[in-house]
Amino acid sequence: MSAIKEPSFRESVDLMFNRAVALMDLPPGLEEKIRVCNATYTVRFGVRLRGEIKTFTGYRSVHSEHMEPVKGGIRFATSVNQDEVEALAALMTYKCALVEAPFGGSKGGLCIDPREYDEHELERVTRRFAYELAKRDLIHPSQNVPAPDMGTGEREMAWIADQYARMNTTDINARACVTGKPLNAGGISGRVEATGRGVQYALREFFRDPRDSEKAGLSGGLDGKRVIVQGLGNVGYHAAKFLSDEDGAIIVGIIERDGALVNPSGLDVDAVQQWLAKHGGIADYPDATHHAEGGAILEEECDILIPAALEGVINISNAARVKAPLIIEAANGPVTAGADEILRKKGTVIIPDMYANAGGVTVSYFEWVKNLSHIRFGRMQRRQEEARHQLVVDELEKISEAMGPQYSLTDRFKQKYLRGADELELVRSGLDDTMRIAYQSMRDVWHDRADVEDLRTAAYLVSIDKVAASYRAKGL
Ligand code: NAD
Repeated sequence: MSAIKEPSFRESVDLMFNRAVALMDLPPGLEEKIRVCNATYTVRFGVRLRGEIKTFTGYRSVHSEHMEPVKGGIRFATSVNQDEVEALAALMTYKCALVEAPFGGSKGGLCIDPREYDEHELERVTRRFAYELAKRDLIHPSQNVPAPDMGTGEREMAWIADQYARMNTTDINARACVTGKPLNAGGISGRVEATGRGVQYALREFFRDPRDSEKAGLSGGLDGKRVIVQGLGNVGYHAAKFLSDEDGAIIVGIIERDGALVNPSGLDVDAVQQWLAKHGGIADYPDATHHAEGGAILEEECDILIPAALEGVINISNAARVKAPLIIEAANGPVTAGADEILRKKGTVIIPDMYANAGGVTVSYFEWVKNLSHIRFGRMQRRQEEARHQLVVDELEKISEAMGPQYSLTDRFKQKYLRGADELELVRSGLDDTMRIAYQSMRDVWHDRADVEDLRTAAYLVSIDKVAASYRAKGL
């Protein structure tokens, strides 16, 4: 047992914030204003289930309203508590600022194990929770816009949107009260995969600059890199799938609730995910070695470690043994402040949560804009773009005909060039651009400032600077 006390999740976020503001020159008082959580609402409500009244406890925390609406997911888990919700809300503030999504930070949670309830029961609980929050404008298109998080997904968001619409029958923007909805209920293409996709784009940008990979003792690109993922849920599954299918990374380990699967020649992410969905666990999956003590696999040899489940999994008790030279925090807060210190001293490079999992809020932002504009992205431009490209292709074909058959355009080129961008392509392009630009802003600070050792501090510096500018502009 280590003698050093592990800080709580919220203390961890504050410690990391403090490390960054010590390097800044903020006016007195502003630092405190940015750090503190503005308000946390706790609600206890009863729902009649299986012949008895069950009481649930939920939270919605608003960290910063320097921009409105505030934004942040709703988590369903038994471990949900005020400290956690406030830490997550603070991270949302910094995350939105870093990726320039025009929101303040918020987060919500309900103490519930969703696996203990059937769909109908969950719907009743979710709607009741949404009612309690909407009644106080803690769900509202222009004030507070939730999204999915651990234990929630499209289905819960659709219930929340419908509940809000029933309570606000004349609000033409009702659908913008929550993001992460299914496509047929006002959602946007590419939202389900967005956070995992963002992790992929983040890693691609990391490997674009050899100075960065060298800091982690790595070289080349993602092809052939050995990856261990913790949590094969929404974020972990999509990140692992895209990295292996599209970038040639090898998923050598997957850690879930009931242990870990290891296969040095690579796991089939889809097959493991289907097994998990069917059997509720990974224990008997055939094509890998199963380790009952899943957490120990966080310490295995690999090039990239992707914690994508829950917070605090890399802490002062195991950080020294973590061998991965590069950790990308797909989950929120998987590395405690104590572990961060240990890893930094070892030279481990950490791509921090506030950036690494910002793909979700980025595409949520696009969904919110889509809901407010009441039109699908690309609907006006797509065919016009195709017609203009057709003009170019026709001209080029005339020229190539005159020049000879060896100059004719390939079918592949024509197919790709002639197709106008649909919503999914536009969403991916917007997400890629956002992840690149945000990374570059961190990278500049990381490389240019001698007093900045790590990407996390760089991320905080960039985001706090933006939040501070926004407060200053407001006259605070
Ligand atoms: P999810 O519920 O879809 O998936 C979580 C996965 O982790 C599940 O497969 C679960 O079985 C597994 N898990 C739970 N406890 C575990 C344990 N002790 N060890 C190993 N695996 C465990 O959740 P998600 O939406 O993928 O979120 C995961 C993390 O990503 C959270 O920290 C969340 O805050 C963060 N995040 C999610 C989004 C999003 O868009 N969903 C966006 C940003 C950040």
